[in-house]
Amino acid sequence: MNFQELGLKKPILKTLTKQGYEVPTPIQIKAIPPILAGRDVVGLAQTGTGKTAAFTLPLLHRLSDGDQPGGHRPVRVLILSPTRELAAQIDAAVQTYGMNMPLRSTVVVGGVPIKRQKNALMNGVDVLVATPGRLEDLVSQRAVKLDRVETVVLDEGDQMLDIGFMPAIRRILKLTPKNRQTLLFSATMPKEIKALSNDHLKDPVEVSVVPETATADRIAQSVMHMQAGDKPSAVAKLIGAHPGKRVIVFTRTKRGADKVVRKLNGENLAAAAIHGNKSQSQREKALAAFKSGKNPVLIATDIAARGIDVPGVELVVNYDLPNVSESYVHRIGRTARAGASGFAVSFCQADEVKLLRAIEKLIKQNIPANAVDGTMMPKAEAAPAPRGGPKGPEGRNRRRRYTSKKQRASA
Ligand code: AMP
Repeated sequence: MNFQELGLKKPILKTLTKQGYEVPTPIQIKAIPPILAGRDVVGLAQTGTGKTAAFTLPLLHRLSDGDQPGGHRPVRVLILSPTRELAAQIDAAVQTYGMNMPLRSTVVVGGVPIKRQKNALMNGVDVLVATPGRLEDLVSQRAVKLDRVETVVLDEGDQMLDIGFMPAIRRILKLTPKNRQTLLFSATMPKEIKALSNDHLKDPVEVSVVPETATADRIAQSVMHMQAGDKPSAVAKLIGAHPGKRVIVFTRTKRGADKVVRKLNGENLAAAAIHGNKSQSQREKALAAFKSGKNPVLIATDIAARGIDVPGVELVVNYDLPNVSESYVHRIGRTARAGASGFAVSFCQADEVKLLRAIEKLIKQNIPANAVDGTMMPKAEAAPAPRGGPKGPEGRNRRRRYTSKKQRASA
C-alpha cells in the first residue's frame, strides 16, 4: 500500500515525498479511507504510530475540496489536544503537511498572551488546534466561532479524561454543528472513552493498531535497586556515562524534577525540567533546547512528556517508578523511536518494588536488574516475546492514569 493508492491529492503526495515518507503506517492505512469518506472514526493508537498524519492528511484533502473563500474563513477543522506541547506539535504537523495548499491554520493554548491568538483568529483559519481551556476563553471573548466546524478531532482521548477535561469537551462539542464529523484518538479504551464515543460519534468506524508495548524490541530495559538517598548521585553518574546523548529522566513529581535538575547542574551537567509548574515559555525553551540538542538532558513528569516526539533519545531514566504501570510503557517509548535502539533504566527503592512487579506483569516480562553502576549498560537485544500476546488496547485492567486529584496536581 502506498499513499497514492489511498487517494490523497497531489499537493499532499508531494509533501509526503519531500518528508521522506515512503509508505503509510498501519494506522494511516486503516484510518485514512474512512476519514476521507466522511465517517466518524475511533482510532486506538498511541503517539509515535503516525497518528497525527493519519487524521491530518485526509482532513487536508477534504478541506481542499471546494472553493477557498477569500475573506474571513470559518474554522472548518478543530483539533483538541490535552497538552500545550502536543498542540504545538500537531500544529507544526498541519503546517508541514499542508505546505503546498492554500490553507490557514493556527494553534491556541494557555500560558501565553491571548492577544496574539485573537489577532491570528481575526481573519479566520481553516484548521484550529487548541487546548480546551484557552479555546473556551476565546469563544467567550467572541474571538472565534465554532458553528461552521466540519470535523472535530479529539486527540489523546484517554488523557483528556485523566486531566478532567470532559466537561469542557462536552461544552465545546455543543458549539459545533450536530452533523459534523468526529474523530477520536486514544491510546486505550476505558469505559469513559467508550461512553464519549457513544454519546458524540455517529456509527464510528473503529480502527486500532497494537499499542507500542514496552517490549518495543529495541529497548534494552533494566532496573537498578537502590535506596532513595542514592538516586541523585546515580542519575548524575548514569547521565555522565552518556555524554552528549539525548536523555529523558522521568520523575513522579514536579518537585522531584526540579531536584534532579539542581543535582545535575551542581555536577556541571546541563539539564532542564518540563512540568506543569513551569511557565509556557520555560516549557517551550526547554523542549526546543532538547530537540536541537543544545541541552540534551530533559527532566519531565508524565503529564508534560506524553506525546512528545523527539528522535534520537538514547536513554530514558525512570527516577521514580510510575504509580500507574501503563505510564512505564509511554515513558520508555520515548526512546527507540523510528527504528533506533535505546536504553531504559529504572531506579527502584524498596517501597517501589510493588510498582515494579505491576509493571512486569503488564509487560509480561521480567526487567533484568543492573548493577548499581550506571556504566554497566546491557546490550540492546531483542526482548522475549510477551507470553499470551500483547495486551489489547481495550485491556480490561486498564486504569485511569491519575487516580486522584493529589496525583494529578503533583505531576
Ligand atoms: P505521531 O504518531 O503522529 O507522533 O508520528 C510519529 C512520527 O512518525 C513523526 O515524527 C512523523 O513525522 C513520523 N511519520 C508519520 N507518518 C510517517 C510515515 N508514513 N512514514 C515515515 N514517518 C512517518
